[in-house]
Amino acid sequence: MKRLVYPCLFGMVFYLSGFAQETAGPTFTDSTKDTALSADEQEDEFQGSLNAFFDNEKTALDSFAWDTKKINSGHLDLSRLTDTAKIPLVDSARQKYYSAPFENVITSDFGARGWLWHYGVDIRLSRGDTVRAAFDGVVRVREYDRHGYGVVIVVRHAGGLETIYGHLSRTWLTPNQTVRAGDMIGLGGSTGHSTGSHLHFETRYLGEPFDPHCLIDFGTFTLKSDTLVLTRDNFTYLAELRKVKWHIVRKGDTLKRLARNYHTTVAMICALNHISHTTKLRIGGRLAIGSTVPSDGKLTMRQLKSRPSI
Ligand SMILES: [Zn+2]
Repeated sequence: MKRLVYPCLFGMVFYLSGFAQETAGPTFTDSTKDTALSADEQEDEFQGSLNAFFDNEKTALDSFAWDTKKINSGHLDLSRLTDTAKIPLVDSARQKYYSAPFENVITSDFGARGWLWHYGVDIRLSRGDTVRAAFDGVVRVREYDRHGYGVVIVVRHAGGLETIYGHLSRTWLTPNQTVRAGDMIGLGGSTGHSTGSHLHFETRYLGEPFDPHCLIDFGTFTLKSDTLVLTRDNFTYLAELRKVKWHIVRKGDTLKRLARNYHTTVAMICALNHISHTTKLRIGGRLAIGSTVPSDGKLTMRQLKSRPSI
């Protein structure tokens, strides 16, 4: 597959939630497709999937509530995943289908970008192109995240799956609204932290991102299989990403000295904390320090959200 360097910057930044700025308008859910599950039914099915894979049911249920405000609605430690997750994606008997979110060149893939991690794939599009729901589901979040995803829609699907559509120019969907595969999610754009029009498409299982290539062949934009199979191996990258320490700045600390003491680099400390090498460190402030193994020292968005004050 042709790969271009065309960075979606959203995966690299600390982000704050903004306000939904899009105005209400027509919806694109086809009311004739009445076989979709209701929000309650989706949630029941979703919670059922939690019970199937976690030994501590209560913890799982408590930590993954339906939240229409936060993109990251809860996080489960998928290293505790005790079984192989098999998620049916399409079922013609139940009229459950798949639709490509948008078909074009992938400009950036899931994975490491320098010291940071890109949690989805970027698909090139032009502003105003139609972005479509990949599967049946219920809109959980619609918001404007000015420093990150931009205008973003999060759709929860059955089986613990979620898909995220970022950098949209417009959407008319609202939380709790049912969508079918192929329904319009919104129009493509470059809102949020983005350097050009593209769709940031992310897939998550029980709140944790996994490589969308696991389910979609981005050469043909078809499903690789009718059933998505995930194991803890799909999430081992997270364990490496989370090897982060915090340093409380003391008198006399310099970036150079900290880099030497922690066996890391000034550049990595700067990247993790969004500071430059000339930033004056504030005594008592916190600095994120990456793994002592720089080659694996990536950070998650969640850790970046706990941005230390400098
Ligand atoms: Zn992206």
